[in-house]
Amino acid sequence: MASRKPKAKAVNRQSVRHQSHSHPLRVFKAKEDGETVCSGCELELTGQAFKCTKSDCDYLLHKSCFDLPGETSHKSHQDHPLNLLYSPPDDESVYTCNACDQYGSGFTYHCSNCKYNLHVGCASLPETVEREDHEHPLILLYCTSCKGREDTAFICSVCEETVLEDLWVYYCRECDYGTHVYSCAAYEDQESNEEEEGEASTSPASRIKSLMKAQDEMAAMQLEARIMNDANEAALDLWDQPKRRYYW
Ligand SMILES: [Zn+2]
Ligand SMILES: [Zn+2]
Ligand SMILES: [Zn+2]
Ligand SMILES: [Zn+2]
Ligand SMILES: [Zn+2]
Ligand SMILES: [Zn+2]
Repeated sequence: MASRKPKAKAVNRQSVRHQSHSHPLRVFKAKEDGETVCSGCELELTGQAFKCTKSDCDYLLHKSCFDLPGETSHKSHQDHPLNLLYSPPDDESVYTCNACDQYGSGFTYHCSNCKYNLHVGCASLPETVEREDHEHPLILLYCTSCKGREDTAFICSVCEETVLEDLWVYYCRECDYGTHVYSCAAYEDQESNEEEEGEASTSPASRIKSLMKAQDEMAAMQLEARIMNDANEAALDLWDQPKRRYYW
């Protein structure tokens, strides 16, 4: 095969580096198909984004995740600043988010003093949301309204499950109505009846709905992968096998 001289100028002209990833990234416009997930926040990839320049690498980042500050102060954790980590702390493969109690395996805002972790998506949840099925806006609380009360538990008004007192909720004090911050936060419409109106898809509730749906799926996948891992390790001595394989 004849070898051609590469045109040096054309290569990598648009590439950028990000501390979170060892390969260069390029600008990428995400398709709004709900199928691609940001490697940072693990939520649905929409709008302006970056993609790894290597064809066999699926690393993707929202522009907003690319631009996240390395340190932030957050109302939920006022004693210490939170540091942005690009992977779970302590060499673990997952962490548990202190806001929503779901797993994360991408970026986290972390306090090492307190072992406190937030999904970067949870760290940027809006302070109020509106629901189609509730007449008042719901306010984001950083613990349930039942915290410290032994006689009462907080029940999510949507899924009717108990919410642990240190988890975040969206709450209407007037009606004592409250929900989990993830999938329950958004009005559960018929899946088949989703209308993509421009206005609807930018409302906070529908934004959270699509974000949190992706997050739920990720959490389920991670859990599944963990369970499979545990089973493999229990069943076999894997010393001669590659430690990790990525099929995606
Ligand atoms: Zn992201
Ligand atoms: Zn890559
Ligand atoms: Zn979370
Ligand atoms: Zn702390
Ligand atoms: Zn719920
Ligand atoms: Zn209300």
